[in-house]
Amino acid sequence: MLDFLLPALFLLLPLAVWSGYKAGRKSSKKNSSGSRLSKGYITGLNYLLNEEPDKAIDAFIELLQVDNETVETHLALGNLFRRRGEVDRAIRIHQNLIARPALTGDVRKLSLLELAHDYMAAGLFDRAESLFTELVKEKEYRLDSLNHLVTIYQQIKDWNKAIDTSHQIAQISDVSQASKIAHYHCEIADDARISGNLKVAHDALKKALIINKRSVRASILQGQLYQQAGKNKEAIKSYRRIRHQDIAYLPEVLNDLMICYRLTGGDTDLLKYLKECLEQGAGVSVLLAVSELLSASSNEKTAATIITDYLRDRPSLKGLEQLIQIHIHRASGAAKDNLLLLHDLVIKLLEKKPVYCCEECGYSGKTLFWQCPSCKDWGKIKPIFGIEGE
Ligand SMILES: [Zn+2]
Repeated sequence: MLDFLLPALFLLLPLAVWSGYKAGRKSSKKNSSGSRLSKGYITGLNYLLNEEPDKAIDAFIELLQVDNETVETHLALGNLFRRRGEVDRAIRIHQNLIARPALTGDVRKLSLLELAHDYMAAGLFDRAESLFTELVKEKEYRLDSLNHLVTIYQQIKDWNKAIDTSHQIAQISDVSQASKIAHYHCEIADDARISGNLKVAHDALKKALIINKRSVRASILQGQLYQQAGKNKEAIKSYRRIRHQDIAYLPEVLNDLMICYRLTGGDTDLLKYLKECLEQGAGVSVLLAVSELLSASSNEKTAATIITDYLRDRPSLKGLEQLIQIHIHRASGAAKDNLLLLHDLVIKLLEKKPVYCCEECGYSGKTLFWQCPSCKDWGKIKPIFGIEGE
């Protein structure tokens, strides 16, 4: 990063000198400050070349008092320091710019925006929030400032403010905020569930499903709340909704769904439901659940046939593992030993494979995060499909 930015800094400096020289020549027609200005820039340049950036910054800031035309150079330098990670220097430059009473309104607003970015980079979210809140009043910076405010509220987990601000964004932007807002409601529900405030949790999930009826996360959380309260029929209703919202997430609730069905004596209904899901394109986990149900009802041969047929069309390591397991029970002697070895190998292969992947940035791992740890987008991490996944 630094290697990339340093040449940019040295390209910028001659521009700064040129700008100072030009400004000096222009003003020298009226007074003698021109030579002082160009001299000041050369002094600043020398400090920078001698790796004394603090003194260089002071020299440039000193020049700002002489001529307002150098503002753009100072803004560029401030941004450059921020990108190099030298946030304190960037803050000093931008704070000094704002303190100049002679600045035009537009330059002052731009300096405020840059200072807000500095505060964000420094993790000073309260100061950044106050500047972005001020800039929301300016039409040209409104959307950008609202988006930054949402980033701050996500960071500090103030979900109510994130919801309010996202609604403001929705009024002026073409990009839908529904999915994100539903996730913020789910965050509130999750917090409430942990602190035992179940009514708040249920209310938040209802709001999530109103703003985004395809919110898988809200259905999962709602199902879990009902299940924990012993309301298995209601839990089944919530979990079953996922098939229509996004069938890729069905494996996330499959075990709980099967438990709820068993507790309500609905094994036949469960088998029918899972077979319908398979026809709709559900992954190998649903196939394995069907196979498990058939094996449990002493229909092991049918279970093996279903898996074999499925694997012909959609090869899958998980399916292969289950198929080997069924055959191990029937085999004996050397054949059984070989199957055990093969089973062990497939298990080891599966252990090393990520289970989830972000559709946006490609981040992959074994944990389902609703907000991607890499690109920070919401609801983009999904179970991996294909030979090594679902
Ligand atoms: Zn991502």
